Amino acid sequence: MKLLHFKKSNTAFWGIYDDAKALILTNMEETSKLQTFQDVISYFDDEDMKSRLTDAVKREEVKLLPPVLPTKNILCIGKNYADHIKEFNGTDEDIARIRETPIFFTKALSSLITDGDTIMSHTEVTAAIDYEAELAVIIGKKGINISKEEAYEYIYGYSVLNDVSARDLQKNHQQWFKGKSLDTFCPIGPWVVTKDEVPEPQNLKVQSIIDGEVRQSANTNLMIHPINELVEWLSKGMTLNPGDVIATGTPSGVGMAFKPQRLLKSGSTVEIVVEGVGRLKNVVE
Ligand code: MG
Repeated sequence: MKLLHFKKSNTAFWGIYDDAKALILTNMEETSKLQTFQDVISYFDDEDMKSRLTDAVKREEVKLLPPVLPTKNILCIGKNYADHIKEFNGTDEDIARIRETPIFFTKALSSLITDGDTIMSHTEVTAAIDYEAELAVIIGKKGINISKEEAYEYIYGYSVLNDVSARDLQKNHQQWFKGKSLDTFCPIGPWVVTKDEVPEPQNLKVQSIIDGEVRQSANTNLMIHPINELVEWLSKGMTLNPGDVIATGTPSGVGMAFKPQRLLKSGSTVEIVVEGVGRLKNVVE
């Protein structure tokens, strides 16, 4: 199931995307009342759900919204692919230390946008905007101190995320929050694919394509900390809730690592593709 969040005539709705019909199936009256991501999960988990989706809209006729309702900042993993650590001149020692303990940071919820939205260039504060292709994991069940063996029970599905980053701000502030959190710096979508349709999340091709050119191309099987370990680490002493988002890290090929650097420019088209999950496309203002 591909879960979509969208707006029409200033009201937000939820629906599922029907590939065969190329339509969003929904019940506008009922889904406009869903408040939390748990409400959304319960609604679409209902056995009779499909018979209740009596409205159909075309994707082009609505404004898509980020398909998640997180209860906390977007949870992000820094440096979860060895090749990405190396492209930033990281050593084997750095990789060993990260194997020991992952790096976490967050992106402000105010940075969320979705497929088709514009990434603002913020030229007044940054001159170094970069892309990061990532698989996003969406939590579907409340839990704390979740073991890696149980981790998948707490996962609802997956989405595609671009961890847009102002490299100069990351460096100047020494802490990544600001450079990762400018408005529009967290494109996610276009939908959440439920986990039953992604049988091997740890074996998916992840790519970024800038102006038609493939810059990053890797596989989620290269993560240093796999998804189940990330859920275990993050939930240690911290409750994960339905709708929370985990950005699982980016592989090598980011713009800053090219010599010379190939950062995003005004007018750049950024596409992030995760095999079996979706394609997320945004243009830089
Ligand atoms: Mg990242």
